[in-house]
Amino acid sequence: AKERGRNRFAFYSSDMAERALERLHIEQGLLRAIANDQLMLQYQPVVRLDDGQLIGFEALIRWDEPTHGRIGPDRFIPVAEECGLIDYIGSWVLHTACTQAQAWIHQGFVDLRLAVNVSARQMNAGDFDVTVSDALALTGFPAAQLELEITESTLQAVDHSRQLLGRLKALGVRISIDDFGTGFSSLSRLKHLPIDRIKIDRSFVQDLPGDGNDAAITEAIIAMAGSLGLGLIAEGVETPAQQQFLLARGCTEAQGFLFSRPLDVADVDALIVSTARG
Ligand code: C2E
Ligand code: CA
Ligand code: CA
Ligand code: CA
Repeated sequence: AKERGRNRFAFYSSDMAERALERLHIEQGLLRAIANDQLMLQYQPVVRLDDGQLIGFEALIRWDEPTHGRIGPDRFIPVAEECGLIDYIGSWVLHTACTQAQAWIHQGFVDLRLAVNVSARQMNAGDFDVTVSDALALTGFPAAQLELEITESTLQAVDHSRQLLGRLKALGVRISIDDFGTGFSSLSRLKHLPIDRIKIDRSFVQDLPGDGNDAAITEAIIAMAGSLGLGLIAEGVETPAQQQFLLARGCTEAQGFLFSRPLDVADVDALIVSTARG
């Protein structure tokens, strides 16, 4: 407990008061992070599953905290959602990622796809589609190359999600369902939403090909995507055996440590140069 007292970011505690205090510390820390430019993005390659060829990137936020080091989004995004800072952080992510990806387009990766995560509270802000169109207008990033990743639970939590998705689609951006399979979307519901792609959650991929249940679920998701005409990305591909299993069943795109971890901007710069040289 002494140990924990010294580490203001230790998140796990059975004590409610301590948790509330912890949240407050993170909230105050986030305000400092914003003021002092400590938020940054990494970019994880999305690749073709057969040959690993680069298709684009997913932007993933990190917090470079001076004393505690790099803090992952699972530690602070939930707090940012609760205290409302996610609206500011979310539009910062959109602007920063679009600006960066636009630079990569100019470096020669003209048809790259950029995926950005969006949380429920951001989408409920009322003018989220305006935030997106502003980011596109200010950065010049092509709408058709931007993909917004939302989860099934976000869809459930957002009022008028169908109308909002319609307005976003009208801007020309694409919509992906993130962590697919962990929520409870009915097929009929998905069919009536303007969705372009689904991402098979890492929890189903990690025990492939050995786990029979996960294999069956993955096969069902791939078949469903095919019959609904949706694009498909497998998340968290770490082994050649997982790659082979997914390929054999018709999945064509993936992300995962087998291909690349999330990268800093400089590493993506180098990757794009070497890819362009072929
Ligand atoms: P996500 O959208 O499902 O992102 C994928 C997560 O899986 C990332 O964790 C990524 O680093 C990790 N990952 C990718 N490939 C592998 C693999 O092969 N093996 C393993 N074990 N992990 C892999 P990360 O960056 O910690 O992000 C966690 C979550 O935080 C994201 O899950 C997303 O829900 C959220 N998040 C990240 N950036 C943002 C953001 O800018 N805005 C919002 N609202 N949420 C974000
Ligand atoms: Ca995602
Ligand atoms: Ca995901
Ligand atoms: Ca996730």
